[in-house]
Amino acid sequence: MKQVYFHNAEITIRDRNRLNKHKSGLVWFTGLSASGKSTIAHKVEKELFANSIRTYVLDGDNIRHGLNSDLGFSPANRAENIRRIVELSKLFIDAGILVLAAFVSPYKKDREYVRKQFDPSHFLEIYVKCSLEECERRDPKGQYKRARAGIIKNYTGVSAPYEEPETPDLIIDTETMSLEDSVRAVITCLNEKKFY
Ligand code: ADP
Repeated sequence: MKQVYFHNAEITIRDRNRLNKHKSGLVWFTGLSASGKSTIAHKVEKELFANSIRTYVLDGDNIRHGLNSDLGFSPANRAENIRRIVELSKLFIDAGILVLAAFVSPYKKDREYVRKQFDPSHFLEIYVKCSLEECERRDPKGQYKRARAGIIKNYTGVSAPYEEPETPDLIIDTETMSLEDSVRAVITCLNEKKFY
């Protein structure tokens, strides 16, 4: 017997987008750890905020400390991690927010799942591209070193795979592009998709 019913809201996503004067949606940054996803997402947010766009950054590390603190890094746990982030993003989008989500999301299957959950006019996938060598050189949190030493298991790029996106909406190569140019490229892409 059905026990859970949806209560239809009187105020819809359209109403909120009209009030805010911009579209809500999800910008999904994928790439190796230390490729630059979070750095770019936060800089993009700063620029959008200055333009009165309502945003929120969802970041892998932060989410894994709270909502998803019960999950590890097996393929099944990674899929559940993504599923919860998708549901969280849906609520944010419904509330009128432009979500900037920075998650390694190494599996093609999981990213395809993400894309299918959203209206294409409210979704962007951005591949933050950087070679493993350069990511290991940056290693801002010392995670690669710990992964190489076997202290961290299932670390993407070292002991777990990263499946490169084949048709992302945008590729940002952080080995050749400056942070400013990377941010500009995202903003241009958002403009082209008429987010605001
Ligand atoms: P991720 O979120 O992908 O794990 P972070 O943003 O946490 O990556 O870290 C990326 C590191 O790379 C930071 O220390 C940042 O300063 C550095 N970096 C160097 N060049 C760039 C660039 N063009 N874009 C973004 N980050 C860069």
